[in-house]
Amino acid sequence: MSLVDVHCHLNHALFKDNMKEILERAKQAGIKAIVVSGVNPAANKDVLELAEKINSKKDNDNILKVSLGIYPIDALGLSEGETGLPRNTEKINLEKEFKFIEKNKNKIVAVGEVGLDFHWDKLHHNQQKENFRKIIRFVKSINKPIVIHSRKAEKECIDILEEELPNKDIPVIMHCFSGNKKLIKRATELGHYFSVPPNIVKLQHFQTLVEMVPLNQLFTETDAPWLSPFPDKRNEPSFVIETIKKMAEIKEITEEEVEKQIWNNYVKVFGE
Ligand SMILES: [Zn+2]
Repeated sequence: MSLVDVHCHLNHALFKDNMKEILERAKQAGIKAIVVSGVNPAANKDVLELAEKINSKKDNDNILKVSLGIYPIDALGLSEGETGLPRNTEKINLEKEFKFIEKNKNKIVAVGEVGLDFHWDKLHHNQQKENFRKIIRFVKSINKPIVIHSRKAEKECIDILEEELPNKDIPVIMHCFSGNKKLIKRATELGHYFSVPPNIVKLQHFQTLVEMVPLNQLFTETDAPWLSPFPDKRNEPSFVIETIKKMAEIKEITEEEVEKQIWNNYVKVFGE
């Protein structure tokens, strides 16, 4: 069995004391790759360090993969009071972070999460868009897949991606995409991929998305520690099996067939 979680935050403090158990359960469940995603300079450093530490243990089989990101709100450097997002970050110097990511490009499988967030920030949309364009151009220059956060800005993300990547230069993965059917259709036609979290078990939106999108454009993710499918358990990579089960049910094929196709997608797009 080869399962993959293409987007989660195992570097989160909530996993500090139980990493060993979480990795054990992931391996038991058949997970072969977990892409841990950074969101700002500090998290990006943490993610690289964590991957190095975990992967240096022989029986972990290089299970952790790295995606370095620039979360749109962190890029603005707004305070907790301004956004309601429970953290303060220093405004990110994009050029400096691009240099850092480029320096580590051989250690990463993607750039993300990046994109737009109009939920937490209502006042700096033009600045967000400008940053996003710069980020896309940078990612194109280092030729990596790009993982997109598009909360309450799904259409704007698709528009900008279409303008900046007219030749479909790099693979685009829409993570936890909440756009409507029209936007799902448009992004699918543009060749974008979608990564689906395990809370699909209770959310009709993701079930509809899986119904609409061909299997060769789908991925499994968890966004752990968030988006758990279970009310009493924190999300973790081993739960991608819940997404696989639901996909199999919707596509009316076996779990094995889903698993195999998702793994093939992963190898094709993320390259290992
Ligand atoms: Zn995330």
